[in-house]
Amino acid sequence: MREDKPPVEEKKLSLIEQMQAAVALLTDSATNRVDEHTQAMRWAHCLQCTKRLQAFSVLHLAQKDKCSLCGCFLCWKIPTHTDPVETRKQGKEVLTACTAGHW
Ligand code: SF4
Repeated sequence: MREDKPPVEEKKLSLIEQMQAAVALLTDSATNRVDEHTQAMRWAHCLQCTKRLQAFSVLHLAQKDKCSLCGCFLCWKIPTHTDPVETRKQGKEVLTACTAGHW
């Protein structure tokens, strides 16, 4: 991972944004998916990243494998080709990318 980038401000998705992302992902076509090799590369970066929330308990279940920078659940973010939340906000196709620039 690259350590020479400036720190990125943490962002929390609102509950509405999380629901919009979930709906978008559930209704998305299969074409909005990156291939398995790309997913594996992304997971390799995220699993080593200090910004990945790893807490696991009944109280913190919703925080498991969530990116603290963008607020996304990684199991949703990693497979997608385009970012459903940003695409909706900006009204144009926005490619899914690591907020810290790791992938
Ligand atoms: S998306 Fe980027 S910043 Fe977030 S956990 Fe993965 S590698 Fe880290």
